[in-house]
Amino acid sequence: MDLGVGERLEVVWKKLEVWEGSTRGKNKVIRRWRYRSRKVAEGRVSLWNRFLPEKLQRLTPLYDDLVEIAVRKSHGARVCGLKEVLERCCGFQEGCGSVVVEWDDKWINPLSLASKGWAFESVDERKRLVCRCRSCCRTIVVDLNPEESSVYLRRSCWLNGVVKGHGACCPWRNVQFNLDKEYYLNKSNLVHDIERISRALKKPCNLPRTSQEPLSPDQLTQLKKVFHYDGDDQLLALLVRGYEPIGNDVVRCSACFRKAFLHNYSTLNYHESWCRYRDENKLTEMILSALSLDFESCGNTGSVEERLHNLETYLEKL
Ligand SMILES: [Zn+2]
Ligand SMILES: [Zn+2]
Repeated sequence: MDLGVGERLEVVWKKLEVWEGSTRGKNKVIRRWRYRSRKVAEGRVSLWNRFLPEKLQRLTPLYDDLVEIAVRKSHGARVCGLKEVLERCCGFQEGCGSVVVEWDDKWINPLSLASKGWAFESVDERKRLVCRCRSCCRTIVVDLNPEESSVYLRRSCWLNGVVKGHGACCPWRNVQFNLDKEYYLNKSNLVHDIERISRALKKPCNLPRTSQEPLSPDQLTQLKKVFHYDGDDQLLALLVRGYEPIGNDVVRCSACFRKAFLHNYSTLNYHESWCRYRDENKLTEMILSALSLDFESCGNTGSVEERLHNLETYLEKL
């Protein structure tokens, strides 16, 4: 190794140390906020722990986990759980399946209601949607097909019904799940899609053939290399457009939960206007651009000089 490369490696190593150190520092702060030393009131009789011998019965944990306490106190109020938001969103789509609804793409739709803590309860005889908060147990009623509809009215329904419908102490009253950061496609959450697609490709699946092939041959070849996959093109094409097979002939979007039959599947975009995969080619483009560095170096070890240059470029971006 020549002297120049050695010096550059030294610089990269120092940068990595600084980065690792700063991350450790952040963790410390987070832990301090998360845990609180436990104070046992005088004279309080602790509960009997049947897994411990008698002489160790007085031993209790020294710290309380504040996150666990908050979850116990406010049942159903996990404001940071994407899985819970998607479950509630799916509940609205399934529950309103028998009603023709034109969802508003910004104020009132299954995703916005779910992101504000509301879950599907029922649709009444006047085609009004009843939602319930699992944290404060309050309910609100939303008219699905109002006689008058304007941006002003929908915004007013959001502010006065959806936001103020929660109880004064409910955590959802002042908080909303961060859709831009966690739900909509961006680099930081791309890993969820890569995991979803990798898992789905491993399951056995027999889809009927359709004439539609929305991806270019070049994109398909690259995606197959990225996922180390050599099977059905159509399955891969459906997965990168957000769909997952739920039957022999039916696919469902994993973000807006709209269903489509494969036998009449066409170039039509079946996603809701507010769906993560509304722009159907965006995920493919993001995966290929995010993994292009690894993809190009796949099977090509390159010289130390090239690999060091790639590492330096990567660190500059951090
Ligand atoms: Zn509530
Ligand atoms: Zn969708």
